[in-house]
Amino acid sequence: MDMTSPTNLLDLDPLQLVKYCGELGEKPFRAKQLQRWIHQFGVSDFGEMTDLAKSLRSKLADNAIIAAPAVISDHISTDGTRKWLLDVGQGNAVETVFIPEENRGTLCISTQAGCAVNCLFCSTGKQGFNRNLTVGEIIGQLWMAEFALRASKGIPSGVKGERQISNVVLMGMGEPLLNFDASVGALKLMLDDNAYGLSRRRVTVSTSGVVPMIDRLSQECPVALAVSLHASNDALRDRLVPMNRKHTLADLMAACRRYLEHAPRDFITFEYCMLEDVNDSDAHARELVSLVKNKTNPVSCKFNLIPFNPYPASGLRRSSPARVQAFAQILIDAGIVTTTRKTRGEDIDAACGQLAGEVQDRTNVLGRMAKMKEYQPGSGMKTFTIREERA
Ligand code: SAH
Ligand code: SF4
Repeated sequence: MDMTSPTNLLDLDPLQLVKYCGELGEKPFRAKQLQRWIHQFGVSDFGEMTDLAKSLRSKLADNAIIAAPAVISDHISTDGTRKWLLDVGQGNAVETVFIPEENRGTLCISTQAGCAVNCLFCSTGKQGFNRNLTVGEIIGQLWMAEFALRASKGIPSGVKGERQISNVVLMGMGEPLLNFDASVGALKLMLDDNAYGLSRRRVTVSTSGVVPMIDRLSQECPVALAVSLHASNDALRDRLVPMNRKHTLADLMAACRRYLEHAPRDFITFEYCMLEDVNDSDAHARELVSLVKNKTNPVSCKFNLIPFNPYPASGLRRSSPARVQAFAQILIDAGIVTTTRKTRGEDIDAACGQLAGEVQDRTNVLGRMAKMKEYQPGSGMKTFTIREERA
């Protein structure tokens, strides 16, 4: 064991915590107690962990810490949506958003500082990529948010208080399946009965379609899956979601079918960002129907239409409500359950795709885009001018 720098216990998934306790000469059940103190009672001071022997408490105080990323800002929207900006070091910040609803509270978590996939309509992608978040930085968002929400309601830490967050979506900044190990470590804590104890159906991974990692997720930690589709054919998807140039729609649909054999829900959620005159015509809707209702090999799915959330210099527009409705109707008439996402937290820039944080870009995406200047997406699409958002 490295005795020089303290171990952040938020970085350890359930099995790793057992191993860590073993290294301290402790039995596995100590790991469960410790995990409950941290993740269920929100305690970060070992001195307060009263059912642990004094000798263990002082050993922990000497060798370990419990530390989530520091909160830079905390905003509450008029609709109750709450957004935190968190410092993940070296000039990088990520965002976490809580969305309260009648009978549930959903936390939207980030998995990377920036994102290398660079979807055309996404402000996170436009910032480039810096690095993967650690397990502690991912689960630390849930830990921080859960106990901040409890504190706001006057529920103290140190007791088993009423749970505020009932659902988690890995839909913030970053592509979770390109930070697979840390995302799965955090997912295991979300599901663990001695940590958050969320059911697999209430935890959703959203991906732009990293096909081999969809298969690995089905084996290692099957939770609900959302796939960011956004296009009905490869030519269009190549432009909107560059991941498609590597993993085509046919491969992605096949991966979805394989995933369904292991998934906790019997459908995949397809997310579809509605962009005016880009992907929102009746023809696109009909093409989607034949993509997923393929006679010999259909994919059991629901659609979630997301009206595009504009951000500065995107050069793109949101489809009109009437267009979204007409588009949805074509899917509904084909027997596909389709919902339109209500946009939440817009006044605090907490809506999908507006999460920008602060990313020290190591991929120089802005430099590369400035060189492209005029981006011509080709067949049936408009010409966009992509301007630099930030020097
Ligand atoms: N990288 C993962 C998860 C994070 S993005 C993924 O792409 O699935 C979360 C969702 O927000 C995705 O469906 C994404 O396509 C959508 N999104 C991104 N930018 C958006 C914007 N400007 N307006 C609306 N939705 C957007
Ligand atoms: Fe990355 Fe998702 Fe944004 Fe695409 S939509 S750039 S995959 S965060």
